[in-house]
Amino acid sequence: MDLMTKQMLNKLLIWIKEDELVKFYQSGPWRKLRATALRMYGNKCTKCGKKATMVHHKKKVKDYPLLALQLSNVEPQCNKCHNKEHPEKLSKYNQPKFMNEERW
Ligand SMILES: [Zn+2]
Ligand SMILES: [Zn+2]
Repeated sequence: MDLMTKQMLNKLLIWIKEDELVKFYQSGPWRKLRATALRMYGNKCTKCGKKATMVHHKKKVKDYPLLALQLSNVEPQCNKCHNKEHPEKLSKYNQPKFMNEERW
């Protein structure tokens, strides 16, 4: 992992541990990885082939924080398929940022 400093990684790990996932999802390293993953799959959902709108972690960030920034642990998906991956909750972390801001 050479695209970021150890300090940055530590900060991300602390955010994950403290349930500050919103900060993680807004961080530079995650955005970069997300963009790379989308490009790699041609912006297509890996489940159904439709347009991908988000990037899913195969192993949960919360359970495997060290895999949070591994390209092999993420896959682009559309909202519909992604909701099936997380039946227990709405994909609140993947809502566009303005949705949150609008609410306040
Ligand atoms: Zn899909
Ligand atoms: Zn997911």
